[in-house]
Amino acid sequence: MTQDKSKYDAVVVGSGPNGLAAAVTLAQAGRKVLLIEGNRTIGGGMRSSDLTHSGCIHDICSAAHPLGIASPFFRSLDLAKYGLEWIQPPAPLAHPLDDGTAVLLEHSLDATIKNLGEDGRNYNKLMRPLVNNWDRLLPDILGPLHFPGHPLAFSRFGFTASQSAVYTIFKNFRTKQVKALFAGIAAHAKMPLDKPGTAAFGLLLGAAGHTGGWPIAKGGSCNIAAALTKYFIELGGEVRMGVEIHSLDEVPENKAVLLDITQKQLARIAGAQLPGSQKQKLEQHKYGAGVFKMDWVLDSPIPWKAADCLRAATVHIGGTFEEIAGAEDAVGKGEHPENPFVLLVQPSLFDNTRAPVGKHTVWAYCHVPNGSTFDMSDRIESQIERFAPGFRVRIRARSKMDTTAMQEDNPNYIGGDIAGGVTNPFSLFTMPKPYKTPLKGVYLCSSAMPPGAGVHGMCGYYSAKKALKERL
Ligand SMILES: Cc1cc2nc3c(=O)[nH]c(=O)nc-3n(C[C@H](O)[C@H](O)[C@H](O)COP(=O)(O)OP(=O)(O)OC[C@H]3O[C@@H](n4cnc5c(N)ncnc54)[C@H](O)[C@@H]3O)c2cc1C
Repeated sequence: MTQDKSKYDAVVVGSGPNGLAAAVTLAQAGRKVLLIEGNRTIGGGMRSSDLTHSGCIHDICSAAHPLGIASPFFRSLDLAKYGLEWIQPPAPLAHPLDDGTAVLLEHSLDATIKNLGEDGRNYNKLMRPLVNNWDRLLPDILGPLHFPGHPLAFSRFGFTASQSAVYTIFKNFRTKQVKALFAGIAAHAKMPLDKPGTAAFGLLLGAAGHTGGWPIAKGGSCNIAAALTKYFIELGGEVRMGVEIHSLDEVPENKAVLLDITQKQLARIAGAQLPGSQKQKLEQHKYGAGVFKMDWVLDSPIPWKAADCLRAATVHIGGTFEEIAGAEDAVGKGEHPENPFVLLVQPSLFDNTRAPVGKHTVWAYCHVPNGSTFDMSDRIESQIERFAPGFRVRIRARSKMDTTAMQEDNPNYIGGDIAGGVTNPFSLFTMPKPYKTPLKGVYLCSSAMPPGAGVHGMCGYYSAKKALKERL
């Protein structure tokens, strides 16, 4: 590609939510932008395909989008005009327990509290300030470290968010239902729940449920990518698919290049141009737990013991707080939990475009040690069966991906880490020079930068803003 004569203001490498958000932000500013993607399909963590070869649409990576609908950047765009339709299930989240009941995160905070018994008041006390200040707080939370626009509300959130989920649960809750609910949400941290900062995930994703919900995208998460791409092209952007960049020398002439990749990949791609010590530092970047991902086609909805689980697309399977904490702790120690915490989404209950009539799609994953090749499929299915006896006999097709398959599918998922590196909020938000690399005009715009993992595009947006200010 070095013979490419066209000159671009900016080249973005990688078309995940952050690459696309960066490309759109640059094109909105009137810059000439080229987006290069190594895969033959656009979207990175927002792709969908017929993984089970059964005529169904499965989300390969992201499936539920509390951060997608909350994202200040996505909200600034009219993505509905480009075909994105969010589907809101009646409840954002269900969490079944062994007694055949389920605790639900309802859209309304009041409706949620009503069903939380003696912990309702405590849940309200924890969540209400965040829910009431959501629109003001969100730009501060979903951004790099900066002086907050709303310091009081932010410091209140920051204080609780910096604690561990275990501490927050012991301090606030007494009932097994609410302890389990909060633990399941906090376990999105992909870290042992006694680590400082894990409470942030419980607070942020819980409050997101009460404000924008945990919607799925009609037709698959690929339609978020499709909408962003259509808009980018309408702005004059150019896209090249199936072109993997192995060295920065392959990138067409530009004033700035924004890489939707993680530190280890940067060391490889920019290796020759980096001073040895910088290269070594990037190579030593730490990656977190990986995932073991499964998809199924069933010939009926999941036969949950707790029928309330049919009201939510997302279901957290792991039983009590103690069990979930134990499972995440085991992964943190490099072990494979016997009873893993399983994050499950059942999209076809609410989106009839996902499967032929009479069939249903189910998506799930659990955390495993980085680089694991252990087959967790039996343990995942046993966990689902525990709360939905008869699940297994309804399976008509299945797909499974261990951490090797995850990384083959997307080079950003190093060792199966879907977050672009350890998600500890402290290291992420206190990064000395976020988005910048040791090379002039070369920026990182992926989820390895603040505010971290999830489909929200904010890492790409802030990286593009930095590039615009410094180079364009
Ligand atoms: C199984 C799974 C479940 C998930 N569930 C959810 C969920 O429900 N909700 C949610 O919000 N998030 C979820 N996520 C996380 C979310 O998908 C990621 O945090 C998000 O996609 C990160 O966006 P990104 O733009 O930083 O990188 P990515 O989306 O990973 O995109 C990076 C892109 O760069 C391309 N690329 C990399 N290297 C090169 C190269 N050298 N040359 C050219 N192209 C290159 C890749 O092919 C890829 O397309 C999930 C992820 C996985 C894997």
